[in-house]
Amino acid sequence: MEPKKNCTICNRLVDYRNQNKILFPDFYNDRVVGIGSFSSELLIVGLAPGLRGANRTGKIFNGDFSGNLLFNFLKKYNISKSYSEFEEMNNLNCRITNAVKCLPPNNKPNSFEIKKCNVFLSSEINKMKNLRIILTLGQISHNSTIIALNKNLSEYKFKHLKKHKINDQIILLNSYHCSKYNINTKRLKISDLDYIFKLIKKLLHF
Ligand code: SF4
Repeated sequence: MEPKKNCTICNRLVDYRNQNKILFPDFYNDRVVGIGSFSSELLIVGLAPGLRGANRTGKIFNGDFSGNLLFNFLKKYNISKSYSEFEEMNNLNCRITNAVKCLPPNNKPNSFEIKKCNVFLSSEINKMKNLRIILTLGQISHNSTIIALNKNLSEYKFKHLKKHKINDQIILLNSYHCSKYNINTKRLKISDLDYIFKLIKKLLHF
């Protein structure tokens, strides 16, 4: 189950979308759905589309700093090839989605929006019968994923670089989001991302 185009569940995000349609008429300005096969073993969960990234291009993790950084790592570790805003993605060896499918003001979805959009994340996860690794980027993505997995947040707390065992099949890894802000402030280091992707490769025996 995916949100329909122009999904109207979250009033605040619909208002913001409509404002952006006027301010940026050439942008995509709609909900952005996940990409990659549901039969993948790896799922990456980001936060929400960025204004000048996915909200502009209509493609998840595409067209901005965080998208470029994530796909540089996917390419480095042979999980994907390049992903430009002008070409279709057809060589992705994982699924990528966001906890919230619409652009939130200041990149901060509120609790209502996180809760309402969780039904779509939950549906995606339920379809992934081969799922073995989930990488969550940031605390909101982590909490949304834990809720979508029907697990208790008090038992699974977000911690950068932490590895959580969800069940006998699924391991969940935490990282800060690969945003420009987190890289510039050195909250997230490039070496941290290398550590995470090396671990993913080792766990999946790619
Ligand atoms: S955030 Fe999700 S639930 Fe809310 S309007 Fe967008 S697609 Fe619909």
